[in-house]
Amino acid sequence: MERDFTPELAAFRAELRHFIAAHLPADLRERMRLGHPAGREDIIAWQRILNARGWATPSWPPAFGGPGWSGVQRLIFLDELARAPAPEPLAFNVTMLGPVLIAFGTPEQQQRFLPRAANLDDWWCQGFSEPGAGSDLAALATTARRQGDHYVVQGQKCWTTLAQHANWMFCLVRTDPAAKPQAGISFLLIDMASPGLSVRPIRLIDGSAHVNEVFLDEVRVPVALRVGAENRGWEIAKFLLGNERAGIARVGRTRERLARARELAGEIRQGGHPLIEDPVLRHRIAALEVEVQALEITQLRLVSAAERLPPGEADPMASVLKLKGAELQQRAAELLLDIAGPQGLAIAPDPFANAPDGIAGADTVPDWAAPLAPAYLFSRAYSIYGGTNEIQKSILARSVLGL
Ligand SMILES: Cc1cc2nc3c(=O)[nH]c(=O)nc-3n(C[C@H](O)[C@H](O)[C@H](O)COP(=O)(O)OP(=O)(O)OC[C@H]3O[C@@H](n4cnc5c(N)ncnc54)[C@H](O)[C@@H]3O)c2cc1C
Repeated sequence: MERDFTPELAAFRAELRHFIAAHLPADLRERMRLGHPAGREDIIAWQRILNARGWATPSWPPAFGGPGWSGVQRLIFLDELARAPAPEPLAFNVTMLGPVLIAFGTPEQQQRFLPRAANLDDWWCQGFSEPGAGSDLAALATTARRQGDHYVVQGQKCWTTLAQHANWMFCLVRTDPAAKPQAGISFLLIDMASPGLSVRPIRLIDGSAHVNEVFLDEVRVPVALRVGAENRGWEIAKFLLGNERAGIARVGRTRERLARARELAGEIRQGGHPLIEDPVLRHRIAALEVEVQALEITQLRLVSAAERLPPGEADPMASVLKLKGAELQQRAAELLLDIAGPQGLAIAPDPFANAPDGIAGADTVPDWAAPLAPAYLFSRAYSIYGGTNEIQKSILARSVLGL
């Protein structure tokens, strides 16, 4: 695909690639290449390097410190980060909160929060979902009642990614329980150190605990930290969720994982031959690569078309990117685990016997294989967060196919 970009875009890509090669810490690159997720300190350090270069907030207008890139340039940026591989700027700060404050925030909110979000001086998390409100987000039950110049918030959020690192949460709350579900919601900025707020980790199938429950028990939030008008939070939530879907196809990430799969299949031998010589495996890799390329072309077409849409208007076709992107990421994770074979299985060592032949115990899983089973297990989440596959299909049926 790269050869088909204009000379200007090719030069832009080369500049990004050169910068990333020169500034991305080598140990972080190597851990990510093996398939480990970036840690908190890695994410902060790298975002600050990007911010110093003016590249941490690709979608923000120049007046707010953004680089003024087109949609296609932003995709190339994500592509180059994935290729390195390097962490993306923290989506909660950059893709979600930033554009909301730019579009709906007061000048005070913008001045106070935007520079700190760009530099990851504040780590934001997203308090939307609740135990009874996920796909049907408008069913959210967390309430905020007005008391003078404060709201008093009572309720529970769920699946809050990386809340354990966050010092701020943007949150949807119900300010008018009598109104229609969508009409009584407001958007609040909540300090995670507020009395009455507590975070409890949820252990996931991959062994990680990076999603959480957040409990809000009579938490006082200044009215000045409401974004937009009272009871108009649904409009802001829709705007934010539209932005969340941008880049969700993760084409670059899937392509990087496929490159890793090829590399591993060239190194691992079975029956005296490298796995990559197996025609069935070659076919599987090739088929995935073709689909990734098709998704990339679709994504470029949609991003170019989106630049002609009125500001704030979302294209329902973005659901195709979410659907297909999730599927291809899942297939790439499965492919890597299959290539690792028994070596990818972190089986707890049997205390009574030696591990069965050929199956590594947890303490002997080689470093190159260790992240592959957790990554495969976590990949189930791709078709859940950001709107489930079923919801994406309904959007396409209704808004694109007119069914
Ligand atoms: C790893 C991970 C991280 C997350 N991070 C965050 C976060 O940081 N902040 C946050 O606010 N949320 C987060 N979420 C929550 C996520 O947005 C929700 O899980 C998602 O919207 C689905 O909601 P739910 O879990 O309540 O499932 P439900 O909405 O209860 O859905 C259950 C099943 O029913 C199906 N279903 C529901 N409604 C329909 C319908 N109308 N038609 C057809 N099928 C339907 C769904 O597709 C699904 O298969 C995260 C989730 C995961 C897994």
